[in-house]
Amino acid sequence: MELKELTIKSSLELLERGEITSRELTEATLEQIRKLDPLVKAFLYVNEEWALAQAEASDKRRRDKQAGPLEGIPLSIKDNILIKGHPTTCASKILANYIAPYDATVIEKLKKAGAVFVGKTNMDEFAMGSSTENSAFFPTRNPWDLERVPGGSSGGSAVAVALRMGLGSLGSDTGGSIRQPAAFCGVVGLKPTYGLVSRFGLVAFASSLDQIGPFALNVEDTAILFQIIAGYDPKDSTSAPVSIDNLLSLIEKNSQIPLRIGLPKEYLTGDLHPEIQKALETCLSILRKKHTLKEITLPHTKYAVATYYIIAPAEASSNLARYDGIKYGFRFESKNLIELYKKSRAKGFGKEVKRRIMLGTYALSAGYYDAYYLKASKVRTLIKRDFEQAFREVDLIISPTTPTPPFKLGEKVADPLQMYLSDIFTIPVNLAGLPGLSLPVGLTRDNLPIGAQIIGPPFRDDIVLSLAYFLERELFLKLIPPILTENF
Ligand code: GLN
Repeated sequence: MELKELTIKSSLELLERGEITSRELTEATLEQIRKLDPLVKAFLYVNEEWALAQAEASDKRRRDKQAGPLEGIPLSIKDNILIKGHPTTCASKILANYIAPYDATVIEKLKKAGAVFVGKTNMDEFAMGSSTENSAFFPTRNPWDLERVPGGSSGGSAVAVALRMGLGSLGSDTGGSIRQPAAFCGVVGLKPTYGLVSRFGLVAFASSLDQIGPFALNVEDTAILFQIIAGYDPKDSTSAPVSIDNLLSLIEKNSQIPLRIGLPKEYLTGDLHPEIQKALETCLSILRKKHTLKEITLPHTKYAVATYYIIAPAEASSNLARYDGIKYGFRFESKNLIELYKKSRAKGFGKEVKRRIMLGTYALSAGYYDAYYLKASKVRTLIKRDFEQAFREVDLIISPTTPTPPFKLGEKVADPLQMYLSDIFTIPVNLAGLPGLSLPVGLTRDNLPIGAQIIGPPFRDDIVLSLAYFLERELFLKLIPPILTENF
């Protein structure tokens, strides 16, 4: 079995035909983790015994003709999504000893579908960051260049998929945390429409922006995972009453339909890295063969990062108030309750998390609320309206996913604003609640992946996937990180 040749879809076919077992596939995946993870450190937790037990149970279900739609497929999960009985740390010291007491809805759905979990992946602490350097435990490295970051905050998930340490993964995206690392690691990442995937059992960062979504090696695999995790959940009050069926055939069929595709002029400024510009132009010339391209304007784009950095920290400061040293995880023992609270939080949270809590608390405080949070909420509406206006003229929007290729480890840690700006093209999509997908579209001269972002109207994740499928076929890239070939 050649792990680097496998996808979810092809593995399912092999499993179905009895040519491989889930046990073999899972063993190969664990072997891959043993070999490659020491180089990149994508995992916070790997449990071989657990993984193999799940694989064996899966093989039994297949023998008993009770196979689910993902029967026997090894996956990894970002460490802010709860799997009952296993650690969920959010890459934070404050949750270092926390064991999840229940399954997230997405996990329940994946279990029912037959998935095998191999472990939990590294991330920026509480999903705050764009490089996975804010993990309290260790940074993760980019598989294409070990001196560079994999992106973040779901860096571990993107790396795990790029190196076939599991055939897919789930991450979360609040301002770009699925799409940006997907772009940096050369894999596909989808942030679904807000409300399409249940957030029950996802540790909250900024609840009006957070969405769970899949990482995979190609568009079909992304669609397979997305279809399984999507759908209404009464346990999430923001869950939409929509279900997704027959996505693969829909995508294939719709990929033949000519579409009107918008190019936001605000995204294509002189600041864009020249090699990203070039890769995007290649995509555009391909798209022109079948689709109509049109320049559009999203005039409030320039306020998106500032708006996000009021709203996201404000929500985070409220969500993270629960980590008080009493209810969860790390506790600084003291007879004085106030000291216990203060010290538990001071020692349990990292620098970036504290920065966000302070920014958010300030923005929400009496006297400043109107000037910051309320104002930001109004600008958010303007950003949303920009997209609504654009979608009257076009069916989809295409842009780069990131303004630059993956940067060096340490390059932006001292300058939070520079770090924040790496999400400049992804943040508006979260503010507007839209679906966005990052597709690998090329490599720089230095062999670093480049991603393009496809953005759709709300609940049209299907046409986002259809266009990605079309572009993927036309580009016909096979992106295999060099360390993968060297180690096979
Ligand atoms: N990089 C952004 C932030 O730091 C987005 C993170 C995310 O999507 N979780 O907040």
